[in-house]
Amino acid sequence: MIDFSRTIAQVILGFSIALSATAQAPTSAVATKPVNDEETLRAFAAIHPIDVHVHVFKNDPAFQRMLERLNLKLMDILVMDDTNPNRKQLQPQIEDAVALVRSSGGHIALCTTFDPYKFGSASFSADAVKQIDRDFAQGAVAVKVWKNIGMEIKDSSGQYVMADDPKFEPIYKDIAAHGKTLMTHQAEPDVAWGPPDESDPSWSYYRENPQWYVANRPGFPSKQRILDARDHVLANNPKLRMVGVHLGSMERSLDNIASHLDKYPNFAIDTAARMEYLMLMPPEKVSAFLIKYQDRVLYGTDLDLHSDANLPDALKDWQSTYARDWKFLATGETLTVEGKQVRGLNLPQPVLQKIFRSNAIRWIPGL
Ligand SMILES: [Zn+2]
Repeated sequence: MIDFSRTIAQVILGFSIALSATAQAPTSAVATKPVNDEETLRAFAAIHPIDVHVHVFKNDPAFQRMLERLNLKLMDILVMDDTNPNRKQLQPQIEDAVALVRSSGGHIALCTTFDPYKFGSASFSADAVKQIDRDFAQGAVAVKVWKNIGMEIKDSSGQYVMADDPKFEPIYKDIAAHGKTLMTHQAEPDVAWGPPDESDPSWSYYRENPQWYVANRPGFPSKQRILDARDHVLANNPKLRMVGVHLGSMERSLDNIASHLDKYPNFAIDTAARMEYLMLMPPEKVSAFLIKYQDRVLYGTDLDLHSDANLPDALKDWQSTYARDWKFLATGETLTVEGKQVRGLNLPQPVLQKIFRSNAIRWIPGL
């Protein structure tokens, strides 16, 4: 048996030594700001952060200790994916997730989903509503719609099923009637429809997941068509709160995000797995956007913890992501992103409080 706590302690110790060896305090206007990950994570923890977008498949005492130490709350999102053996079946995922939530001492909440592969069944809508209602009764706070709607699942006539299909309407109405929130991952980054682009932060994902790289596929829906369907859902369901995950899949255009936020008061976005796009944009523009739309942006990461994860590695990964994101949004420190030097935005404390915490509670009641 491996003594995990000891291994982790050694890793953390090694990590801190490495950090303190390299953490030379920069003599700049922000010299009073935290300069290493440990101090950064203390500042992050002080805001009692909520990460609205993670995929956690197991709890572990060391993981739980990290949540407690960081005062961190997570929303664990379920996804049905017929290409992934762990995500093929819905009911076992729900049961595992409910058990995980119960073992987390209030640190993890559940975002459930429904089985879109059953779309062809005559009782699809009624079955989905029944299952979602049962999950709400067990504490689920939100429902996820994934990119397989729009990009994978086809109807009986061979057409790609879009999010505004009338069969989904009873589900949306049910979520709104329960005062819950719909999390939509619709379409993919622009690069999935474009030429290979090593400089795009998402490109490595398509190298590893070519099934989602759809450039030059005859008859494949355009990104615009998929997002238009998502927008119809917003327009048709003004009482439904929707969080468009991954910057609402508009990762290259803050103007496009802004016009959606202006047009649809029931729409907000999360930052999951798209923070690097923000880091690589002109900082003044990102700052102005986040300040103007400070009530509409939720912090999320898309971090995952698989059942076979190496805990020390995973903990390091989670904490370095939180430290990096906090440095970018909350401090004026310089980070290296995709080989470029990026200066932190140093956002005002009330804005940080909203992005890292209170927007999550307001947009996803029950969190
Ligand atoms: Zn995700």
